[in-house]
Amino acid sequence: MIAANWKMNTTPSEAQTLVSQLLPALCDITGVEVLLCPPFISTVLVTELIKNSSVRLGAQNTYFEDKGAFTGEISPVMLAGMCQYVLLGHSERRGLFGESNQIVNRKIKAAVKHALNPVLCVGESLEENDAGRTDDVLGAQLRQSLEGISIAEAQGLVVAYEPIWAIGTGRAASGAQANVTIGMLRSTLAGIFDEATAASVRILYGGSANGANIAEFVSQPEIDGALVGGASLKSDEFISMVKQASTAKG
Ligand code: PEP
Repeated sequence: MIAANWKMNTTPSEAQTLVSQLLPALCDITGVEVLLCPPFISTVLVTELIKNSSVRLGAQNTYFEDKGAFTGEISPVMLAGMCQYVLLGHSERRGLFGESNQIVNRKIKAAVKHALNPVLCVGESLEENDAGRTDDVLGAQLRQSLEGISIAEAQGLVVAYEPIWAIGTGRAASGAQANVTIGMLRSTLAGIFDEATAASVRILYGGSANGANIAEFVSQPEIDGALVGGASLKSDEFISMVKQASTAKG
């Protein structure tokens, strides 16, 4: 899977232009699931644009209640039927909007209840990495965020390993480094669920992935793709990344 997180970028008309640049090239590429996560305001528009293609739609967030007096929030009921995936626990949500593992857990439960596949983002800070706490931090994020999720509910789960120090910094992890950490995440998933579920969960790398380094990530045995921020806004570069992933995993 190569997933595009456009974050709070693109007006609806810019989103339309970007999708129209991406679609003709992406339709010919096999073996890679391509996921676009535009801002909420463009969800309906992008659903229409991609409806006859294999490209999938994701939301960047959801609230955990179905409906009610929650001004400014979007519910999984509103997203279901349009989106197949939802990003949850992104470090910007955790860091800027105070989302704890407990909130992420409630959101994951709400997502699976409405047949939205969660893309659960986990990642350690630079301080945590320097202190040798990466495995503990990521293990706690996984265990707490997935508490009470059954093996059946985990079937569509995707995990994104996004070291915070690598997001938007131009300082990506190395492929080998990410492979080791993602292998650890997979073992943790085996402990939470079982070996078969852990083997089937796609685990992506995210953090300054781009056209020049994507091959290094997707050629690693434990890495099933990438979650891409900045580079996903450049159509040529994103297409190149999807093509390289198709070659590496095809
Ligand atoms: C992200 O925010 O999910 C991300 C991976 O961003 P970037 O690729 O810009 O580092």
